[in-house]
Amino acid sequence: MQFSSYQDLRTALIARAITCEAVVSGYLERIDRHRDDNIYIAVFHEKAIQRARELDGKLRDGGAPGRLFGMPMAIKDNISMKGAGLTCASRILENYESIYDATAIQRLEAEDAVFLGKTNMDEFAMGSSNENSAFGPVPNPFDKTRVPGGSSGGSAAAVAAGLALAALGSDTGGSVRQPAGFCDIVGLKPTYGRISRYGLVAFASSFDQIGVLARNCDDAALVLGVMAGKDSHDATSSSHAVSDYAAVMAGVQVEGLKIGVPKEYFHESLNPEVAGIVRTKLDELRERGAELVDITLPASDYAIAAYYILVTAEASSNLARFDGARYGYRSSDSADVLAMYVNSRTEGFGKEVKRRIMLGTYVLSAGYYDTYYRKAQQVRRVFQDRYREALEKVDVIAGPTSPFPPFGIGEKMADPLEMYLADVFTVPASIVGMPAVSVSVGLDSRNLPVGMHLICDFFEEGKLMGIARHMQRRQCSSAVVS
Ligand code: GLN
Repeated sequence: MQFSSYQDLRTALIARAITCEAVVSGYLERIDRHRDDNIYIAVFHEKAIQRARELDGKLRDGGAPGRLFGMPMAIKDNISMKGAGLTCASRILENYESIYDATAIQRLEAEDAVFLGKTNMDEFAMGSSNENSAFGPVPNPFDKTRVPGGSSGGSAAAVAAGLALAALGSDTGGSVRQPAGFCDIVGLKPTYGRISRYGLVAFASSFDQIGVLARNCDDAALVLGVMAGKDSHDATSSSHAVSDYAAVMAGVQVEGLKIGVPKEYFHESLNPEVAGIVRTKLDELRERGAELVDITLPASDYAIAAYYILVTAEASSNLARFDGARYGYRSSDSADVLAMYVNSRTEGFGKEVKRRIMLGTYVLSAGYYDTYYRKAQQVRRVFQDRYREALEKVDVIAGPTSPFPPFGIGEKMADPLEMYLADVFTVPASIVGMPAVSVSVGLDSRNLPVGMHLICDFFEEGKLMGIARHMQRRQCSSAVVS
């Protein structure tokens, strides 16, 4: 029993045509059948069933169903859930258990969502393919020899393969949007500060945002609306009023919409099939009354360079807390405390995490701070100015989510720079902090998903999702995996 939208599931639940328990056990059974796909790091078999029974009881007793009543969700394993593991797909946190709930989790729970388990990811959310995981890679549900994208690869694959109706991911430079694009689903990264980061393990704090992966734009906006808003536990969370996203989305018309198409996004290195599918969709909107406006934006190359300087700098500082003493893994035989730090980190962290700690430490060091870190901050400011200017003239900036379709497992592991290029279109919105979404717009000749990436101005998530809904491919992959 598969539902492709929450609205359909909700209608069935509220009409008591089906019980929450039946829905949840259906998902759990499916998860178990697909255990080899390595999508979940932990599955909450008993807890999820118990919760479903409670919700069924609540409905029977005449209680008012919450906004996410019975929605079966998966959570990326870098978001805290009290009593559950929180591995960040790292050896260093292998046996760590969360001692509190993230604010996002609390808010979902208060609206009656059901959590199925924690999903696989790139270690500490560093990567674009889910291959940097201590638990091993996750195959793309469309082609098991390929990656699902990353770093929220497990969450994206779970939603695409029908192993959750929606999922949380985290997005620092594209980790929700890029895997959504690779898995034929919707991936939304809200404005920086829209959702509290309390309980999200920090990678690069001035970029990190929790995001939503869902089968369609309505579901993604619904989940966002529940989590959004000020939180006293996160000083960077915004007190900007939370809109009624469904209402804003309903008012978005294609007629008269100004869609900015940056010429830099359609560089000759862009995969021709990806370019063709994205162009066709944009042309279709033009035929329906939208105006396509050619715009120019700073070259994407600078975005990647600035991004990898800034996030590695922040990561090197954030990850200093994993020292073998305070959390998780501790190396067993060290002569003194310094050796214990070194050995625990050497044995606990994977290769990519170490690379980033070294890079970050380097760009922050006295002799190089001005050359790299300060310069990258200046580039960040230029991007902010340019994107703001562009969005004064157009409603939305549109382009592909990724320069190429899902690539083969192992294909880009030997060359980190090649891997970093997977984020070339998603990184700018993270640098400026604007909301952005990837929506599925087609399949290429090998049946691999292609995503459209859209960026709107700060806090315009309702408009963004309204526009995305007009582009969304009908019939987002039902049961790719049987
Ligand atoms: N792939 C990018 C990186 O490796 C983005 C990661 C993310 O958004 N968490 O940094």
